[in-house]
Formats: sequence, structure tokens, C-alpha cells
Amino acid sequence: MRKPCIICIAITGSVSTKAHNPAVPITVTEQIESTHEAFEAGATIAHCHVRNDDGSPSSDPDKFAQLQEGLRAHCPQMIIQFSTGGRSGAGAARGGMLPLQPDMASLTVGSNNFPTRVYENPPDLVTWLAGEMRKYRITPEIEAFDLSHIHQAVALHKAGALYGQLYVQFVMGVKNAMPADRDVFDYYIKTLERLAPGTPWCAAGIGRHQIELNEWAIAAGGHVRTGLEDNVRLDRTTLAPSNAALVKRAVEICDRHDRPIASPEQARAILGLAA
Ligand SMILES: [Zn+2]
Repeated sequence: MRKPCIICIAITGSVSTKAHNPAVPITVTEQIESTHEAFEAGATIAHCHVRNDDGSPSSDPDKFAQLQEGLRAHCPQMIIQFSTGGRSGAGAARGGMLPLQPDMASLTVGSNNFPTRVYENPPDLVTWLAGEMRKYRITPEIEAFDLSHIHQAVALHKAGALYGQLYVQFVMGVKNAMPADRDVFDYYIKTLERLAPGTPWCAAGIGRHQIELNEWAIAAGGHVRTGLEDNVRLDRTTLAPSNAALVKRAVEICDRHDRPIASPEQARAILGLAA
């Protein structure tokens, strides 16, 4: 049976700016328009950060609320996922939008280095964020920047600390963290399957590794993430004109590998989310 592929669109992030690529959506209105185009192109999860008007990262729950309202109106059944990772060091402010009860939220269960800083995820913060997600019935997407994060995610899930079904994303190619290493990628899949058989997984590659990880994940039966948060280029010399253009690129890879694109309903079933 041909296995549907869920495409997640990471629309904005906390780093990319209009100086990197004018198509990066910054205001909530731009974010809703950009996500809608990506949704029409086949994306079924919207991974969301919000920004202040000057482009700096924000954790303002009001902005998340406006974004969620717009996405629910314009992208029916699309899975809304808020990032709790965008402002390392901000502590509990990283979960201040969880009472809005998005379908999903990202959760990183350990620390590692980022290009210019430590990405801090101390155990007490992870426990608190996971508890808030349980309280508001939000399914986490585990962001695994390291092998230890996969082990920790499974342990937390088995202990009942995570709401809903386990879903793990392998993130590769962040400078100073795990590179896009094929052997490690294969071992990630093998380890997750050994520790928690049948768990769906996704992969994200940063910068030029985005297309590489899209290819690897689609060919290996996983789900994919793309978008201007992780990469602003179509290829070495061309800026991506939109988030939708990056979704279309992932759709082309799915076509080549005979993977149908998951509809919002199929994606919700795969992830154990309410329809
Ligand atoms: Zn993000």
C-alpha cells in the first residue's frame, strides 16, 4: 500500500528575515497568506512562530491567537503546531501560548549547541512544557536534535508524560549540532522503531540539507518538513519565492517515490488527532 506523506510547512521560524529572503512572512497577515498558499500546495501541518513588527522573535500569545484564528478560517482541517522552541532562555514564556490549545506543539527534550548559543532545554522546563501540553490536550512533536533526545522522548512517552500519540522529528544540519549524516539518519529510524515500534516520524534538514532530508525521509517512508524557517533557497543561486514553492518541491519528490500527499484528514488519522 502506498503510504501517504505528511508535509509540514515551517513558515517563519525565529531567525530568517526579509533581508535573507523577502518572502519570509513576518506579520500575522503575511503568515496567514503564506500558509494558505502552502496548504493549497499540499502542506497539512503549519509549524508556527510569531514575530514582533520589527521582525524580532516574539512569544506574544495574542499574536499566536490571531494566527490560529486566521489559519482555522482559511485552511480548514490544517494541523496547527506552535513552536515552544523559538526563544531559548525565555523559560516559561515559551509555553505561554499553549492555553490556546493548538493541535500540536513542538517540544525539545534535551539541550544542544546551536550556531551561536546553547539551545537550553533543562529537565524542569521540559517537564513543565509537557505538563502544560497534557493539561491543554496538545500532542507534542518531539524535535530530536540528538540521539539522546529520541531515547528521552520514548522514556517520557512510556512514563505518561506526553499527551497523545508519540511523533518524532529528526532535525539535521544545524551548525554545531547533528549534521546531515546518512548513517546517523538510518540509525535514528532504527532506534525509534526498536524503542517504540510503529511510531511515525518526520525529518527536517537545515539550509542546503533541506532537500536532502526531504529525499531521504520520503524514500524511507517518513514524513517531511520544509519551509522558509529552515531554508530560504530553492537551490544554490535561487531564493525560494514562497513557502508554497518549497512545498511543491517536496510534492515532486513524493511523486518520484510514489508517495501520495496526506490530506488533512489522513494526517490527523496518522497522528492520532481529532478530526
Ligand atoms: Zn520552529
